[in-house]
Amino acid sequence: MKFISTRGGETVTGAQAIVKGLSANGGLFVPETFPQVSAEEMGEMLYMSYPERAAKVLYKFLDDYDEKGLLSACEAAYAKFEGSDPAPLVKIKEGVYVLELFHGPTCAFKDMALTVLPYLLRKGCDLCGVKEQILVLVATSGDTGKAALEGFKDADGVKIMVFYPDDGVSSMQKLQMCTQEGGNVNVVAVKGNFDDCQTAVKNIFNSNEYAKILKDKNTLLSSANSINFGRLAPQIAYYFSAYLDLVSSEQIEQGQEIDFCVPTGNFGNILAAYYAKRMGLPVRRLHCASNMNNVLTDFLANGKYDVHREFYKTMSPSMDILVSSNLERLLFEISGRNSDITAERMAKLKEEGVYEITAEERAAISEVFDGGFADEDAVVETVYDLFCDTGYTMDTHTGCAMKVVNDWAHKNKKDTTPMVVVSTASPYKFPQDVLYAVTGNDVRDSFKGIKRLHAATAMAVPKSLATLRDKPVRFKTSVAKEKMFEEVVKFING
Ligand SMILES: *Cc1c(COP(=O)(O)O)cnc(C)c1O
Repeated sequence: MKFISTRGGETVTGAQAIVKGLSANGGLFVPETFPQVSAEEMGEMLYMSYPERAAKVLYKFLDDYDEKGLLSACEAAYAKFEGSDPAPLVKIKEGVYVLELFHGPTCAFKDMALTVLPYLLRKGCDLCGVKEQILVLVATSGDTGKAALEGFKDADGVKIMVFYPDDGVSSMQKLQMCTQEGGNVNVVAVKGNFDDCQTAVKNIFNSNEYAKILKDKNTLLSSANSINFGRLAPQIAYYFSAYLDLVSSEQIEQGQEIDFCVPTGNFGNILAAYYAKRMGLPVRRLHCASNMNNVLTDFLANGKYDVHREFYKTMSPSMDILVSSNLERLLFEISGRNSDITAERMAKLKEEGVYEITAEERAAISEVFDGGFADEDAVVETVYDLFCDTGYTMDTHTGCAMKVVNDWAHKNKKDTTPMVVVSTASPYKFPQDVLYAVTGNDVRDSFKGIKRLHAATAMAVPKSLATLRDKPVRFKTSVAKEKMFEEVVKFING
């Protein structure tokens, strides 16, 4: 399978798409066609383990890799998860299920892909004959950074550097990153918000001047952000797996359509659901859930993407994003794979902070997608209500999605399509906010939050968070966004 850029001009292999991360003209790599999964194949996958299902989906796109290698990589990756199932589906009430994607090493859904990406990248370098040292650069709104650090720590021939917005991540997320172990890692805070961080990292990737400096140092940049196809591909797998679990537990018939609701920031997770649908998975609608930074809700409602708005810091910090990078891949599809129009829109977004799609495109998007959001009070209410009604505790990001599902159900009372709510983080990753939602208790200290949340819910505390308190803080640097490249050079030299 070949990959093309959303902005045209480049055709590459799967390995090249993953090693490069971003195409030379700033576009995102997308598969030339969507590989199909037939009903027969679905039938075979019913009896497979999660790693087997994941390897099967990966190989559909990455046929330049070998299938056995992909399978052992998936087996090794998902062995790092707590419990026997890396992506369990929990029935909440009639027709509503939660897909828990937070049982990995860092307790957020990013682990689903970032435990596999190091293999895809390393093997990709071999396939491409890359001899340089790889520097993985990451801009994070909190969860990607930690998951990437865990995934890449002490990997051969790879260094990893993470930038996060100084005041834009939760205290638990910050502590997780700043205590990171490994000889090849670096973590730097940036004064600004996530969009500043992400834009600055993109600029480092796109600069010819920087590329030359790095080349002299025998270093090649790579990305672990969700724009990398190596992030997207493993995410497609859990949509298949969730569907298969519904079939094998006889909740649905094979072929029956279901909906997914996804807490969304950079549009990577929900885009993976869309790709699964395009591959033949029986998905009816995709519900895109935002927090108060509801730029996507507005875009899905009126076809205008406009970043000129207030930026809110919310209890769901991993969704505090105004520029959703992966939306470019949907725009590309919806424009009839028109790379000129896509490039134009992305240029407009960069220069003016706004672009609009046509009425026909809007109609095409709303055939599949709708959007909704939850303000801070609604998140607290929703987490509280579900806990009271069912005893199930969700984190604040999942709370946004559940609110959107409740609103949908309220407006579509006769709709009986099964709904899978994608849960992206462990409640213990945001213990103070979840504790407040569940009990009204307000504590300052994260670990006190964990203790009391455990007392209130009796839910098991993930090991990686329980042991965090005793780890030494290794990274304390904080820089202006203009100084980020200097830090990169220091790290390579050091
Ligand atoms: C990253 C993240 C999201 C947003 O996912 P996207 O793929 O960026 O849309 C939502 N919730 C949590 C907990 C996350 O870590």
